[in-house]
Amino acid sequence: MDRPVLIAGAGPVGLTMAMALKRQGVALRIIDKAAARSDKSKALVLWPRTLEMLDIQGCVQPFIETGMKATGVRILDRHHTLVHVRLDAARSRFPYALMLPQSDTERLLEEQLALLGVHVERHVELVSFTDNKDIATAALRHADGSEENTDYSYLAACDGAHSTIRHGLAVQFDGDTLPSDWLLADVELDGDLPNDELTICWTPDGVLALIPIRGARFRVIADLGHASAQNASAPTLVEVQSLLDERGPTRLSAHDPVWTSRFRINERKVNDYRHGRIFLCGDAAHIHSPAGGQGMNTGMQDVINLAWKLAMVWHGRASSELLESYSPERSAIGEQVLRNAGTMTKVAIVRNPILQEIRNLAVGALGRISALRQILVDQLTEVDLHYHHSPLTRMLPSASPKPAPGERAPDLPVNHTDSGATRLHEVLADGKFALLSVSAPTIKLPDALKAIATTTGTVATDDYRAGYIYLIRPDAYVAMSTKTENRDLLLAELQAMVGTA
Ligand SMILES: Cc1cc2nc3c(=O)[nH]c(=O)nc-3n(C[C@H](O)[C@H](O)[C@H](O)COP(=O)(O)OP(=O)(O)OC[C@H]3O[C@@H](n4cnc5c(N)ncnc54)[C@H](O)[C@@H]3O)c2cc1C
Repeated sequence: MDRPVLIAGAGPVGLTMAMALKRQGVALRIIDKAAARSDKSKALVLWPRTLEMLDIQGCVQPFIETGMKATGVRILDRHHTLVHVRLDAARSRFPYALMLPQSDTERLLEEQLALLGVHVERHVELVSFTDNKDIATAALRHADGSEENTDYSYLAACDGAHSTIRHGLAVQFDGDTLPSDWLLADVELDGDLPNDELTICWTPDGVLALIPIRGARFRVIADLGHASAQNASAPTLVEVQSLLDERGPTRLSAHDPVWTSRFRINERKVNDYRHGRIFLCGDAAHIHSPAGGQGMNTGMQDVINLAWKLAMVWHGRASSELLESYSPERSAIGEQVLRNAGTMTKVAIVRNPILQEIRNLAVGALGRISALRQILVDQLTEVDLHYHHSPLTRMLPSASPKPAPGERAPDLPVNHTDSGATRLHEVLADGKFALLSVSAPTIKLPDALKAIATTTGTVATDDYRAGYIYLIRPDAYVAMSTKTENRDLLLAELQAMVGTA
């Protein structure tokens, strides 16, 4: 296929998509209607699973060097700790929440993209498009008012919550706007507050979240209850201070605000993420409560899921049927994130004093059970995300129960003689499936599969069992596994999965 992919929107999702496609040699254009990158700090957290994805893309280091590592989350009943989870219990090479304002995440992604020779075309707006079955055509408007019509192999709609492409497709964005108002303020805080932990206070008057950004700078988020008419004015420092006085865990003094805003929570999602040659990604496909901080992370993982499939199809190495798994896989994750974030928000904003009492007692008791705390850590850090019900997940005879088909493939040391890579996630950097033999001889690949797969070996660990072969997808999920003697069956399934291009 020689026509480029068009990526509409250069937010974190579009930039990640461009980087992942370009690394696989796919021709592309990335446009944004805005004249400049946004300077808003919006999403503050990169979770371990997203860091693992950036690691696979070979570019995690600048993010880690720029961000700040938060190692815990505390939920307080004003002064008493109800739950304290340690993120250093995360089952990942990156056992922390990396605090990084979205403006920095976008800057670093754009720098990575520039290193690959791709530049965002700014002040270029997608105004309309058609999907002509064999090609997609988009009309783009430039800063000087001129328009161009060009053909593309595929369109990636990374154009945010108000997506022009989603509107053009006339697909439903089902869900609700919650009726409570919220305040957000990025300020400097003086007082006794750890700056390597997220502090969430559940008080009788509402929730107050204090999220560290860097040094003494924190994001303050508070729910303001049901407002009769939406107040359009930006929150003042006086309003922020009075919320801190009423709800804060200790005496805190706010100063030097850099961004204050009000927002309402939208919980919406499309059903289908794919419409012919058009893919909806990130906020164009799903928006939810900021509780859990997973909107941007989910969007970045949407396109990591899509990019390797699109690259294989674009190069003619896999049949276009491979692309059919994008929507069911990511829609299921979108639903899960929506549900979890919605539940967390509803639990946090309970106003009835009796329900508050029951909630605090229950959460305090559950928070003392270490296995439940680990479940919470796994959920927050997104290492529990899975594709159990994906069309790409196959249950072969004698499949290994750990990691099971559809589950995340944890990183581990490997011996990859072809590339010299020493870790599984490094092996995945070339965008191929990895056939991982554990405490068994590595497999010999038939020539027909060499363009899409590579083989490597390792020894058994707590995560991977001896005597099994695991087929690891380029986005570090297990597609299938079996005992080494069934290798021919696994290879036949892999061939069937990618089809005949
Ligand atoms: C206050 C706040 C706090 C948040 N906190 C978190 C958090 O802690 N963690 C988290 O994970 N998420 C958080 N989010 C959500 C996060 O900001 C979004 O999920 C993220 O920005 C989505 O990225 P995106 O690239 O899909 O869309 P956007 O960032 O919206 O980018 C879309 C881009 O498309 C461009 N565009 C739009 N239409 C067109 C067009 N027709 N042609 C060309 N370009 C176009 C826009 O100019 C924009 O640059 C927060 C959001 C807000 C508002």
